Amino acid sequence: MPECTDCGACCFNEHAEYIRVFLVDYERMNDAALALSTEKDGVRYMRFEDGHCAALGFDPATNRVGCTIYPMRPDACRWLERGSGECRSQLASKWPAREREMDAQQKGATLKA
Ligand code: SF4
Ligand code: SF4
Repeated sequence: MPECTDCGACCFNEHAEYIRVFLVDYERMNDAALALSTEKDGVRYMRFEDGHCAALGFDPATNRVGCTIYPMRPDACRWLERGSGECRSQLASKWPAREREMDAQQKGATLKA
C-alpha cells in the first residue's frame, strides 16, 4: 500500500461538495490553502476540478500524487485512516481515475518539454 502522500486516490471524486471545510479547518489553513477552497450558500468546501481536489499535486516523473496542503488538510481528509477498510475500498474504486489523470499529466508534461 502506498503512503498517503504518494497516493491521493481518495482525493478523487466527481462531486463538487465532497470535502467540507469547517471553521476549525478554515482557521488552520493559510491564504494559499484557502484559495483552493470555495464557498457555496455560506458553506465552504475544497474545490474539485477534473474529478479531484484542487489541492492534489501530481509528479509525473515519480508517479507520485499527494496533497499539497497536507499539514493544513481539512479534518474530513484526516478521518480516513490509511490501511482501513474504507481506505482499501477507495483505493480499489478510485485508483483507475488516479492513473488516468496521471497519464494526462504525463502527456501534458511531455508536450511542454
Ligand atoms: S487513505 Fe488510503 S486511499 Fe487515501 S491517500 Fe491514503 S492510502 Fe491512498
Ligand atoms: S485537501 Fe488534500 S487530502 Fe483533502 S481531498 Fe484535497 S488533496 Fe486530498
